[in-house]
Amino acid sequence: MSKRDYYEILGVEKNASDDEIKKAYRKLAIKFHPDKNPGDKTAEDKFKEAAEAYEVLSNPEKRQRYNQFGHAGMSGAAGGGYGGGMNMDDIFSQFGDIFGGAFGFGGGGQRGGGRRMTKGSNLRVKVKLNLQEIANGVEKKIKVNKFVSCGTCNGSGAKNGQYDTCRKCNGSGVEVRVQQTILGAMQTQTTCSACSGEGRIVKDKCNTCHGDGIVRGEEVISIQVPAGVAGGMQLSMGGKGNAAPRGGINGDLLVLIEEEEHLQLKREGSHLLYSLYISIPDAVLGNSFEIPTVEGKAKIKIDPGTQSGKVLRLKGKGLPDVNSYGKGDLLVEISVYTPTNLSGDEKKIIEQFRASKNFEPSPGKKEKGFFDRMKEYFE
Ligand SMILES: [Zn+2]
Ligand SMILES: [Zn+2]
Repeated sequence: MSKRDYYEILGVEKNASDDEIKKAYRKLAIKFHPDKNPGDKTAEDKFKEAAEAYEVLSNPEKRQRYNQFGHAGMSGAAGGGYGGGMNMDDIFSQFGDIFGGAFGFGGGGQRGGGRRMTKGSNLRVKVKLNLQEIANGVEKKIKVNKFVSCGTCNGSGAKNGQYDTCRKCNGSGVEVRVQQTILGAMQTQTTCSACSGEGRIVKDKCNTCHGDGIVRGEEVISIQVPAGVAGGMQLSMGGKGNAAPRGGINGDLLVLIEEEEHLQLKREGSHLLYSLYISIPDAVLGNSFEIPTVEGKAKIKIDPGTQSGKVLRLKGKGLPDVNSYGKGDLLVEISVYTPTNLSGDEKKIIEQFRASKNFEPSPGKKEKGFFDRMKEYFE
């Protein structure tokens, strides 16, 4: 919870009007918006601090309580649940009011007046990863075609950076229409069609971008994919999407993860499964085998008298969990291969085995079924 004075944070007087508070907050929100300051912790803190101050001072009841009791009047359930500071979702849902919903974060539509801040559209890309990349995490550099800020006018869209206040909406960004309905006169507010809600119009359009402030361009974006991701997951990179017209806030880059299938290893969450066939003599006498892992090969030993259906567990040889530090296992299911093409002599030998009591299956020695074992691992 912020200990600084809320009025001080927003830089307004104690008797500031609602409009002044809104304007002050809007200025700070734009300045310290995370999309404009990626990775900047100080900016993020200031952004949150301003949001908290606005949350209180924009609400007459809360503002009065704050004036009377200061921060002490704000804690607890009655304070609206911001005792521990506001989270980003709360803040963005506030934007519906402050920017007329133009941010695209919750909030819902155009409410109240206020100039609209443009936001660039999101970009979507797919990234296909093999198992090794998933196991270790990977940096992928991809070239994207997108709208970038116009270099000629620094994204302002104006030749000399000058704007006129929109005459149609007088800078408010909204048009108010009165319609006659059977219930009487209804007042509706829509985004101003002349200025698209920005409240201002470029005076002299930039020749390069024709007043948009953005042009088509290319950017090589480096995507840090964390280890343990899975197909279908989506990473969001704030501010890496399309630039917004005339100095608004960039859209996001949404990275959809796709998984290349491994020829031998099957993935089950953070575990990997491998099916190993061994011969009857190897099952009887034991042997060692090479099996594939994400990082090349591993040797495993099969004990004499190994049953079909036995599962060996190579601890930690699976994939990292994207949400924790844990690692899955590599589970190797053993199947004993039954030959189908035997010579006459070989058949005779097998006949001799059949005569031996030692070759009769004993239910007590049967391995648990594969699915039962899998259940144990995944539960
Ligand atoms: Zn330009
Ligand atoms: Zn307008």
